[in-house]
Amino acid sequence: MENNKLILEIKDLSKTYSNGVKAMDNVTITIHSGMFGLLGPNGAGKSSLMRTLATLQEPDSGSIVFDGIDILKNPIELRKRLGYLPQEFGVYPRINAYELLDHLSILKGISKKNERKELVEALLNRVNLYEFRKKSVNKFSGGMKQRVGIAQALIGNPDLIIVDEPTAGLDPGERNRFYNLLADISEEKIVILSTHIVADVVELCQDFVIMNIGKVVYNGTPNEAIDEMKGRIWSKSINKGEIKRYEAEYNVLSKKMIGGQPVISILSDYNPQNGFDIQEPSLEEVFFNNIK
Ligand code: ADP
Repeated sequence: MENNKLILEIKDLSKTYSNGVKAMDNVTITIHSGMFGLLGPNGAGKSSLMRTLATLQEPDSGSIVFDGIDILKNPIELRKRLGYLPQEFGVYPRINAYELLDHLSILKGISKKNERKELVEALLNRVNLYEFRKKSVNKFSGGMKQRVGIAQALIGNPDLIIVDEPTAGLDPGERNRFYNLLADISEEKIVILSTHIVADVVELCQDFVIMNIGKVVYNGTPNEAIDEMKGRIWSKSINKGEIKRYEAEYNVLSKKMIGGQPVISILSDYNPQNGFDIQEPSLEEVFFNNIK
């Protein structure tokens, strides 16, 4: 299918807000069909990049080309092919899921009633909400609301879908269902998932970047990233009062409490001795190592 060859090329994108914050600093990323992860701590610049890709704000410099379209010059062309689930998707109270999607389809220019009926029913089925279509969306759980959010992003059959921090506030079951839905959708499209949750990227994304303070600080696949850390991560259970001392002596990537006891993970290319054990790396260590 030709859709398998979709490419989104982001080049040298920079943006400084009027308050002086540089939210994007020469961001360059090439994204292919499938699920792409944009990982970074709060304030990294993820939403700024997502909003720029969604043509809701302009960068100071740089270029974005999607499937041959220069989207900064032709935002309208891009919007026809874009589905966007913003971080805070405000759903209307006291209107049911069917009515909401029907209304949003009208706004997206689908004027024929029959066509809309077919579309809205297909979307409700796709996100597994058909049986709840007459239920008021303000009574939906967090996971159901996010599925309505995805359904609205799919109106008009877009092939670039941007989802900003979608799993915040979902319980594990809802998160799983939402993951499956996204994975399913991404087979024919580019889906960009912005998140600060490392597990989202591990479970879903073929490729990913880590952003920190406006910059891309890592670009690769989750497996490559983890492989690079093999044999270099060591952990040790320590006493609470010792954390500062260990931080001064070692490259501490993370601190966790296990059974009320702090356990630190450090990066070291050789065996640090001193009671440390080798630890299997995970994307979490990659993340912490890149945002230091
Ligand atoms: P993220 O989505 O990774 O949390 P954002 O893109 O929201 O990052 O923010 C990046 C930086 O830009 C932060 O320091 C944030 O406070 C700042 N910022 C975001 N939007 C604006 C804005 N409209 N005006 C000024 N500063 C902003």
